[in-house]
Amino acid sequence: MPSGKKKPEFWLFLEPCVMVSLTNNAVLFYHSLSGQRFEAALTPIVQRIVSDLLQPGNGYVTGLCSSEMEEPDVQRLVSRLEKYFMGDLLNVEWSDGKPVNILPEPYFKSYLTRESLQRQEVRESVNYDDYIHELDIYLTSHRPAGSPDPFPSATRQFIFPGVTTSDSQELPWSLLEPFIRQVTQFRITQVHLSGTHIETYPYLGDLMNLLTKARIPVKFHFPAAGFPDDLAAKILAYRYSKIVFHFSYPIDPDPFNNLINDLISSGKIKQSELRFLVSSQEELVTSRQIIAALHLPNASIDPYYTGNNFDFFQQAVFITQEDIRSSKPDQREVFSRISVNESDFGKFTLLPDGNVYANLNDPPVGNIRANSPEELILKELVEGISWGRVRKSIIPCKDCLYHFLCPPVSNYELLLNRFNCCDVFEKS
Ligand code: SF4
Repeated sequence: MPSGKKKPEFWLFLEPCVMVSLTNNAVLFYHSLSGQRFEAALTPIVQRIVSDLLQPGNGYVTGLCSSEMEEPDVQRLVSRLEKYFMGDLLNVEWSDGKPVNILPEPYFKSYLTRESLQRQEVRESVNYDDYIHELDIYLTSHRPAGSPDPFPSATRQFIFPGVTTSDSQELPWSLLEPFIRQVTQFRITQVHLSGTHIETYPYLGDLMNLLTKARIPVKFHFPAAGFPDDLAAKILAYRYSKIVFHFSYPIDPDPFNNLINDLISSGKIKQSELRFLVSSQEELVTSRQIIAALHLPNASIDPYYTGNNFDFFQQAVFITQEDIRSSKPDQREVFSRISVNESDFGKFTLLPDGNVYANLNDPPVGNIRANSPEELILKELVEGISWGRVRKSIIPCKDCLYHFLCPPVSNYELLLNRFNCCDVFEKS
């Protein structure tokens, strides 16, 4: 309400589709339908108005008295809200009291806490389908014989057919089978199978029987180099399956051309994804040229951090002001970004030693030797750090005006232990 309890002359209201972000010295208004936005300095009068608008009981409405209406900061704020269709003024005489409006709120609110889960009725009321939708399963982890692993941290950056454990291991079927039978009771919409030479996993057929019976789409991850000629037909014979080929440099031209020609001529390219691991600007440019020249569908690029290519990484991965300007999340996405980490939420990664992670850069949530899928979900919701890692909870993003316009915290940031991978923060 106006300071000094003066009688308001106008009600200022915000549309429910408007999202507001605040720092110590600025405020951002974002229209979640049109993507329009503007920033204003948080002068004392603007601060009074914005704080009042955001009070839960005020429902995005505040009163403005005649003296406030004369302040240039207020006039500028109101005219910009009107210009972008974000809000408007109502004469107080047009209504008996403060108009009713809706303060937008995230609909994802976990009511689960360590204390509430002590109660059986709470445990029984959990709808696990809301919390799990993807499984990444590393079936095998064999160290390359006689040579160092060329991409030792790739699996912590993106899903990759690489080594995940310190010694050679295969996921025991006696552990995996009961886990798959339990977890497929939930609404899993994607399974990724990865690891080293997963075609040699002795129980691949048994596993696929369970997954196809549950009608779950499965993506198989393989290194493109050395991919056996007859393997694609065998894998794609499984219903709901796709192959993801991971290319890395140097790329040998003849096997590469043979593989691509075979995928195109047989039509298998439609059930394939092609991912290029790049660790330099040169590899990035070459990959883009290959993809464009061959019109490769379903192709993407995975920048790989080697530990020594920070400059490339800064160019290829860091968020720019341009990215922020072009980001237009809708209200559902904004709420999602302020409630959960969209990259990690609802996903588990299972390693050959039975450990289960919500993110491979964080400690394990549990192990399938000891924990059921339900226990793992509850553990991550109540004690975990990955699903709930939002920008608003980390430094420096928590003090950044753009926290809900930015993509979720990425594995790259976790690996680098640096959460301002952008050219924005110092300048905002
Ligand atoms: S500081 Fe964080 S929230 Fe702000 S632009 Fe950079 S990465 Fe995004």
